[in-house]
Amino acid sequence: MLYVIALGGNALADGRAFGRMYDSILRLRDKGNKIILTHGNGPQVGELALLENKGLAVLTAQTEAEIGLGIENGLAAASARAGAKSPRIATVLTRVLVNPRDKEFRSPSKPIGPFMGASEARKLASRGFSVRKLIHGYRRVVPSPRPREILESGLMRLLLRDRYVVIAAGGGGIAVTRGNGRLAYANAVLDKDLTSALLATTLRADRLFILTDVDGAFLDFGTKHSALLTRTTAEALQSYASEGQFEKGSMLPKVEACLEFVQSTGRPAVIGNLQKAEDAFKFKDATVVYP
Ligand code: ADP
Ligand code: MG
Repeated sequence: MLYVIALGGNALADGRAFGRMYDSILRLRDKGNKIILTHGNGPQVGELALLENKGLAVLTAQTEAEIGLGIENGLAAASARAGAKSPRIATVLTRVLVNPRDKEFRSPSKPIGPFMGASEARKLASRGFSVRKLIHGYRRVVPSPRPREILESGLMRLLLRDRYVVIAAGGGGIAVTRGNGRLAYANAVLDKDLTSALLATTLRADRLFILTDVDGAFLDFGTKHSALLTRTTAEALQSYASEGQFEKGSMLPKVEACLEFVQSTGRPAVIGNLQKAEDAFKFKDATVVYP
């Protein structure tokens, strides 16, 4: 089976030990499954953007290389612990086509980088950046257009065929637009959950797993009635989403990614906890979305 597994940027960034997650991924692979790992880059690309005056496409490429290498090291260390030969691993710089007329270019919505106080926020805004006031402070916001096509999916197929563990579409991929037959960088950061769903659909994956820092999608999240959705259907999940159960920019894109994958392939998708990847892979203690 082909598994697309998305690793949460926030969960990766906080530096906890993910040894067990890598062990679980290697076990999946040792059973003969093909694996593509994707990951977020929100915290990392935001930090870089404060230091380097480069477009977001190039900064995303930098984070794909750095985080990809970190994941390669994690997998290699896990296989060494298990006394096995290191698996073939490849990190793929991944360009993703977006529509230059996407409304996000006019009204950006994706928060990146650290939270700031009011005076810092004013300074950034005076340099021409979009800044928004959120519940916990100010944050820079950037365009996050919908991913349309993954340009390196053919390369990934070749690598998977040769039994590589593929790390791809990091940070949602490097946003590009096509005009006059030419590709140009787009100044945008894509949503890794939506790109992961597009990738899983494009490659006809058997399963999409979205691993994050909570056990799955909760109903009434943050209240004392909060309850983990365990088994659910695309239809039920869709109606919870329209009730506003899932926060925009964090849980909602994961839910939308699952819906897109499940509805277009008829195969299940799972939102689970990165710290309990083994359980999630067994559909335990996680949100499992069926067609
Ligand atoms: P990632 O880096 O994995 O994409 P996000 O922070 O974007 O992580 O999304 C996970 C977060 O979504 C959780 O830590 C939680 O605070 C938030 N969240 C918002 N609504 C919900 C919900 N209904 N159920 C679970 N988590 C939710
Ligand atoms: Mg996220």
